[in-house]
Amino acid sequence: MKNYPKNIGINFHDLTKRYGTPLYVYDANKIEFQYKLIKKYFFYIENFKINYACKANTNISILNFFKKLGSGLDTVSIQEVEIGLKAGFKPKEIIYTPNGVSLSEIKKAIKAGVLINIDNLSLLEQIGHENPNYPIGIRITPNIIGGGNKKISVGHINSKFGISYYQLPNLKRIVENTGIKVEGIHMHTGSDIIDLEVFLQGAYILLNVASSFNELKYIDFGSGFKVPYHKNDTKTDLDMLGVFFKQKISRVCKNIKIVFEPGKFLVSESGYFIVKVNVIKHTTSTVFACVDSGFNHFIRPMFYDSYHQIDNLSNPSGKLRSYTVVGYICESDTFCVNIKINEIREGDILCFRNAGAYCFSMSSNYNSRYRPSEVIIYNNKSFLIRRREKMQDLLKKMIEIDIG
Ligand SMILES: *Cc1c(COP(=O)(O)O)cnc(C)c1O
Repeated sequence: MKNYPKNIGINFHDLTKRYGTPLYVYDANKIEFQYKLIKKYFFYIENFKINYACKANTNISILNFFKKLGSGLDTVSIQEVEIGLKAGFKPKEIIYTPNGVSLSEIKKAIKAGVLINIDNLSLLEQIGHENPNYPIGIRITPNIIGGGNKKISVGHINSKFGISYYQLPNLKRIVENTGIKVEGIHMHTGSDIIDLEVFLQGAYILLNVASSFNELKYIDFGSGFKVPYHKNDTKTDLDMLGVFFKQKISRVCKNIKIVFEPGKFLVSESGYFIVKVNVIKHTTSTVFACVDSGFNHFIRPMFYDSYHQIDNLSNPSGKLRSYTVVGYICESDTFCVNIKINEIREGDILCFRNAGAYCFSMSSNYNSRYRPSEVIIYNNKSFLIRRREKMQDLLKKMIEIDIG
């Protein structure tokens, strides 16, 4: 298949010959396009910052690429902070928004000098007593339902994330008692936001909270921007959101930086996951296409019931037939059930779309399988950015002893 996808001038079949399967491929031009798209929608906000939420895809070369684009970094663990620093981000370009971590981890972030959003009162009080001079941000839960499904909705009242909006009096008391400097207010209501109204409600609540603090430098409106997963799928209307921010938010936020921290929006559509069909198995009811991967490499379909379009690169004009595509690990690892795909033969190469976010970064070594290689394409040139694992990689960290 020559032109797949149409806008990339590299034959994916050739890539699999060169790098093997399974293989993650990212289109850096698409990443750049998405980054510039957000910039375009919010261009009139003078003090505007995009922080790439790197848990979506933590490969250091991708972080480097975001740095070149002018992005900052949103991190959720001290390890992500360290990778960000290694990629050349300055501490103040990195924001650390952890949940449920220990005080000692936060102290490491303070030592590293990065921006920190705290999301519970207990830690806030402890940090306030020990480091009142280290300015921090506060993660607020606006108590709204955002996010495409329960697992990725994190802004509701029973959420473990953030400090509830209703606890504002407690929050203020701790800030007063400890003298800690609050320089940022943050929210992140969940992934896959479809209802803009809900997001805006959250933004208003955040503004309301912000008015209680007079040394604010930034308001971080989080993310959750949705991308389409199939032809008629919805996406977050950023154009509208931009208009709203122009009319209502940016005026109120004079001299305060407005921050967004998208992950999925920036990298999801740039990614392709390429696998090979090992076996076609007919049962009385189903035709299975068994591929050389599983939820060890690509867990979103099983974990979130997410839909990812699958194309047969080896037989693009083959007759459409129904397939249940499954993996090769000993576990239910069904990628899709009875989906129409161009006729699949053993040895064919299949490609999953939208595999740039929360795909490789959620992979594991389950069944002692190697994690795949990652390749990035920029201006029609391909670059290996992670080599396939080997047996040495698996054994390296194990300690072999003779027990008893
Ligand atoms: C995961 C995460 C994001 C990114 O969410 P997307 O849905 O990928 O845009 C942003 N902020 C925080 C704090 C996160 O944990």
